[in-house]
Amino acid sequence: MIFQTYPLIKIAITLSCDIHRICFGLIGFSSLRLFRIAPGLETCMFSAMFQRFYFDHVIMERAAYLRRQGVETLSSEVQNFVYIPTWQDKNLIREGGEPAAVFVRGDDARWLKENSTLMTFLGIEGSTAYYGADISHLEDPGLADLPDGTLFEDLRRLATAIDNKTAGYLAYARALAHWNRNQLYCGSCGAVTESRKSGHERLCTNDICGRSHFPRTDPAVIMLVTHPNEEKCLLGHNKRFEGLRFSTVAGFVEPGESLEHAVAREVKEETGVDITDITYQASQPWPFPASIMLGFRAKGTTTVINCIDEELVEARWFTRDEVREMGGARDMLPPAQFSISRWLIDAWLDEV
Ligand SMILES: [Zn+2]
Repeated sequence: MIFQTYPLIKIAITLSCDIHRICFGLIGFSSLRLFRIAPGLETCMFSAMFQRFYFDHVIMERAAYLRRQGVETLSSEVQNFVYIPTWQDKNLIREGGEPAAVFVRGDDARWLKENSTLMTFLGIEGSTAYYGADISHLEDPGLADLPDGTLFEDLRRLATAIDNKTAGYLAYARALAHWNRNQLYCGSCGAVTESRKSGHERLCTNDICGRSHFPRTDPAVIMLVTHPNEEKCLLGHNKRFEGLRFSTVAGFVEPGESLEHAVAREVKEETGVDITDITYQASQPWPFPASIMLGFRAKGTTTVINCIDEELVEARWFTRDEVREMGGARDMLPPAQFSISRWLIDAWLDEV
């Protein structure tokens, strides 16, 4: 099966930031913090979330119990309101110099609040509530009354320029807006749907049907396969990659399939290699538009490579030294920093 998000991965692959090595020390550490939202209402969140990959650092509390409340009600519980504008799957950034995300607040948000066709409640962080504000109905986003010097841009083009936390917030707002815009009609009866729970549910308006629809996330598996002698790993060059970049094998989970079966099937289809010892490692959100990468390790039981489904132009067994030399003297490139593919490879490199 073709892994349709690979073209997107290659953009993230350009990440040059090395923050993940700094944050790597956070793995295994978490502190559970209690904080008060309103008198008598306590909830908890992980205040120090694990951060290994891009888009995995959405530290706001999603506060699902507040999704039924309007802004007016929330005003008694939070002091600040921040709006993250989206337009046709793009996020608002400041023009010129280093790109920077634009979160709109205060008087600057008046036009957005009055004109966005969809306001989604994202969550709270401290005393600040975050909302997504979608204006995709505008043919020309230039008609919007937004802060000067801003424009809408594809988040994936900004991945190298903005911090992981901000990127996570932008991705969250974008993903929820995308789902709402693509769920305007009921999949069961075709009637119009209406937003509920501040953009986290859509309800069919046909009284006979009345089906509720919820945001979906499509699981994709991504796996590092080691050679039977564990001295090499299996990497492939996808036909969609720019340059001679090699990455771990990946693909979508199919209906009626366990994650482990999906891992074994994808490796077989893309490389012809049989595997065993399939073990889950970690996950990376990939909301473009609605996926999550589920990372695995596995061990080959065969070594002959045959790129059966032609998704990969080429696949090879690489020694650790060959992988370490990627991006240096060799023409071949490794996956990007901050990608789960790179993390899986780095973990294997660090084993010796
Ligand atoms: Zn319906």
